[in-house]
Amino acid sequence: MKKFINIALDGPSGSGKSTVAKALSKELNILYLDTGAMYRATALKTLELNIDTFDEEGVKTFIDDINLEIKYVDGAQRTFLDGKDVSEKIREPHVSMAASNVSSLRCVRLKMVDMQRKIADNMSCVLDGRDIGSYVLPNAEFKFYVTASSEVRALRRYKELVAKGHQVDLKELQKEIDQRDYNDKNRDFAPLKQAEDAVYLDTSDMSIEEVVSFILGKVKA
Ligand code: C5P
Repeated sequence: MKKFINIALDGPSGSGKSTVAKALSKELNILYLDTGAMYRATALKTLELNIDTFDEEGVKTFIDDINLEIKYVDGAQRTFLDGKDVSEKIREPHVSMAASNVSSLRCVRLKMVDMQRKIADNMSCVLDGRDIGSYVLPNAEFKFYVTASSEVRALRRYKELVAKGHQVDLKELQKEIDQRDYNDKNRDFAPLKQAEDAVYLDTSDMSIEEVVSFILGKVKA
């Protein structure tokens, strides 16, 4: 019998998934896996190699041997690429769009999903992403589809980036988020969609605390 629990949190960009997932992992004392960071690191590698982010043949030349590691330092996920900590670098806005592009490539998804399943098979964890409940872990014990209006999501992302010292234009950010949503929902392989058995949560008018306590209520029940 399986001894672990997996919680899948899916939804579009800026829906608050990562903040909620971090809080859940703390409360439940289980691992948090930010799967977006893995696509971002892959995008960074693609950019570093000057390969077009839609060039599947180009990406295939390195993806199977990518040196991508997820480590936990003081309880927080750090992402390492070729031995270097790229946790901050992968948050830069140009990497977001590149991540959205490379994540549509089948060879990238197969590799990332394989890595994610290996982690989730061996421990209790909460994973946030786009396809966790629908594709990566269809048997996850708990599944939530977390969303919010695109205006609310753009504003949240804007505040997050400004707080980190990035200069961003809210309108541009909104356009980028809309484009990423479109890409994520319309790609052929494992698109962003709500799993049939996922609980739908519109967080436009909810605080993080409310979302966390709602999910905890379901998990602990
Ligand atoms: O969640 P985050 O914004 O960091 O993800 C970056 C990009 O990675 C997303 O725009 C999406 O295209 C892709 N992604 C994905 N599947 C996941 C997680 C992220 O396609 N499970």
